[in-house]
Amino acid sequence: MRFQRRLLLAACFLLFIAIVLAWVLRRPIGEELFDRAAAARVAAVAADAAPANSLRVFLCGSGSPMPDAARAGPCVGILAGPHRLVIDAGSGGPRKLAAMGFPTGGLEQVFLTHLHSDHIDSLGELVLVDWVGGEGRAAPLPVAGPPGVEDVVAGVNRAYARDRGYRIAHHGEAIADPTGYGAEARVIPPPPGDAGAVPVYEQGDLTVSVFLVDHAPVAPAYGYRVNWRDRSVVVSGDTVYSDNLVEAARGADLLLHEALSPAMVRTLRDALSREGAANTARIMDDILDYHASPVDAARAADAAGVGALVLYHLVPPLPGAYLESAFLGEAPDHFDGPLRVGVDGLRVTLPAGSDAIEFDELL
Ligand SMILES: [Zn+2]
Ligand SMILES: [Zn+2]
Repeated sequence: MRFQRRLLLAACFLLFIAIVLAWVLRRPIGEELFDRAAAARVAAVAADAAPANSLRVFLCGSGSPMPDAARAGPCVGILAGPHRLVIDAGSGGPRKLAAMGFPTGGLEQVFLTHLHSDHIDSLGELVLVDWVGGEGRAAPLPVAGPPGVEDVVAGVNRAYARDRGYRIAHHGEAIADPTGYGAEARVIPPPPGDAGAVPVYEQGDLTVSVFLVDHAPVAPAYGYRVNWRDRSVVVSGDTVYSDNLVEAARGADLLLHEALSPAMVRTLRDALSREGAANTARIMDDILDYHASPVDAARAADAAGVGALVLYHLVPPLPGAYLESAFLGEAPDHFDGPLRVGVDGLRVTLPAGSDAIEFDELL
């Protein structure tokens, strides 16, 4: 008994010494840990980013305009063989994209679903990082979207004009190639509202199609379908339940659909109203009529016969996974396939020539 007590005391003493040493030596230990992690991270990113035979979807922003420390604004990165695309550039999205190992530089095209601020807040950052980061670029980044995208792009180019000069002066023209600076707008004319998905961009095995969704009074508002070889993903943009989206998404492997919980938003509205925050309460009331509920998204996924459904553009923010069930409500009753509440860092891999749908959480 006495021996055991001594053993316990000795173990506690050693643990205490180890904690003290770890604290006193935190700087050299931290430097060593950082060196090892940095080397491993760079190597892993280079090896893992783009398997040649898969369509890969990177959820770089699963949030909405509402502040959420865990979720960037709406942002989806797509690697399709050699092709690199981004759909929407919500606040913080480009940083999440980089943290997920999405290759920097050499983006082929950015597609904007619509011109609400939460979908373009980080467009300037995305354009800048693609210009000077990674492989860099020798021509402006094409940014495609609904009419008005030319104004957004002109504004971004203007806002970053001084930064352009600083970067060229500091890094040199070999890295910050002046001819590759900025973005170039490509206006996608509105397709017919009942046409389903209409191809707007084709490169080799890659086809990007656009379709109209219903986000009134924001019009036109688009969703996109990306087909690469025999795999496909559909991104809803912001919309209520849309028959045209169902048509466009028919048979797709993966549907990323926006979702707002009406019950939770009504609870917030009422709480704000009781506290006298009339303007914010009014906004909560307004947003109820131009977003889809999780049940709407599940019904759309079922009607379109998609392989899997991931909800994103989540309103309101969910402080933890425990609340996902309350957020989903009856949605799981309406769709039989895999249904996930999106989180930043979610990567979905769709290997060509198979039906596999692989989910990884990278952040
Ligand atoms: Zn919107
Ligand atoms: Zn939005």
